[in-house]
Amino acid sequence: MALTTAHTTIEVDGKTLHIPQGINYSCSGCGRCCNGVAVPMTQDDYERVSAIDWSKELPEFDWSRQFRTLSAKENDSSTYTHAIRPTNDGHCPFLINKLCHIHATRGEHVKPLICGLFPYSFNHTPSGVYLTVSFRSNAVLGNMGTPLTEQIDTLKEKFAVYNTLYTARSVIWDSIKLTVDKPISWPQYLEYEQGVLTALTQENVPLKQRLFAASDALFKDLNKPPVPAEIAPPKGIDKKFLAGLFALYYPSDAKFLNKDVVFNGVKFALDLAMKAPKFRVVNKSFTFEELTAFPWPKGDLEIEDLLTRFLYSRVFGKWYFGGGFAQLSVIAGFHHLAMLVTLIRLHSAGLAIARGADQVSMIDVMVSVRQVEEKVQEAVLDGYSAALWELMLFAPGRLRRVLEASI
Ligand code: SF4
Repeated sequence: MALTTAHTTIEVDGKTLHIPQGINYSCSGCGRCCNGVAVPMTQDDYERVSAIDWSKELPEFDWSRQFRTLSAKENDSSTYTHAIRPTNDGHCPFLINKLCHIHATRGEHVKPLICGLFPYSFNHTPSGVYLTVSFRSNAVLGNMGTPLTEQIDTLKEKFAVYNTLYTARSVIWDSIKLTVDKPISWPQYLEYEQGVLTALTQENVPLKQRLFAASDALFKDLNKPPVPAEIAPPKGIDKKFLAGLFALYYPSDAKFLNKDVVFNGVKFALDLAMKAPKFRVVNKSFTFEELTAFPWPKGDLEIEDLLTRFLYSRVFGKWYFGGGFAQLSVIAGFHHLAMLVTLIRLHSAGLAIARGADQVSMIDVMVSVRQVEEKVQEAVLDGYSAALWELMLFAPGRLRRVLEASI
């Protein structure tokens, strides 16, 4: 089933659950989901798992320090109290030969609750709960498995787990802004979203044009800043902003891979003035021009499909603006999302160059989408940075310059 603006709804526990059509997932047992994160645990999870003496079965780890207590900032408004420390190469210490050792030896019910929920993701909104799946999963990246619309019993179970974990979390949707000075109601938001999803799902239109049309749909009731008929190359400030985002989502130093994703607006403003934009991939720095000159398989349907599903999921799940992403306005949030495509393209090119390929391939794009998915959901903006992003991300001309030069 292809992606469309239509979706399936069911009633679960008195809530309307919205399920996207055209998104498939079944666990492929790759173990990839157990990499790259410090698995959060509830107090019950912690007591259950840490009560077992793992030192004889898994002597390679120091179990006196393998669990850590979350700081007050980390567990603010969540039900998590502890986390499992990842190994030095970033995977969960319980992942042995791509299998969960807890699940294999003690049963599924002993694992932390979050492990049973992944990669399903629910977002409570004023019009119901929206389901998506995480692109950290290999099966999701490849759209492999059973359509989500055919997993009703599983979804009900996962939703119950979600409600156990996230009862304390409140996502605020009552001050939605189309742009900084234009508040909109939730029904108005849904109308704009329909325009974005309609543009994104135009199968026979190149992805870049669909993104331009989606951006235009958000400006339908605003005086859009003029966009020249001929799209100019990116300006220095465009590339510097991209380089700032790139460093945030694709940190070059491995020790930052498991660290918080905090955008430092003041440092960024200084770098804007002082530094030439560089994009670092696998220990090598590139310019924007070097990476965009590297062959990108334009019109590759598999790659376009992956990128479209990634964008669609973020929009359908409302994970790109307001309570779903850094309290950004809808337009800034959507332009940020669209620019992720450019970051993915740049990172994919760097990976392809590093492995000596002659053009970007699907595998480079999958790795790049997965990493951006891991990082973007953790992005934190302070007030100054959020204002700066609003300013940088509002202009449809900037979006056009960046996308025209990259995909
Ligand atoms: S506890 Fe098991 S399922 Fe959870 S992240 Fe670790 S290995 Fe994966």
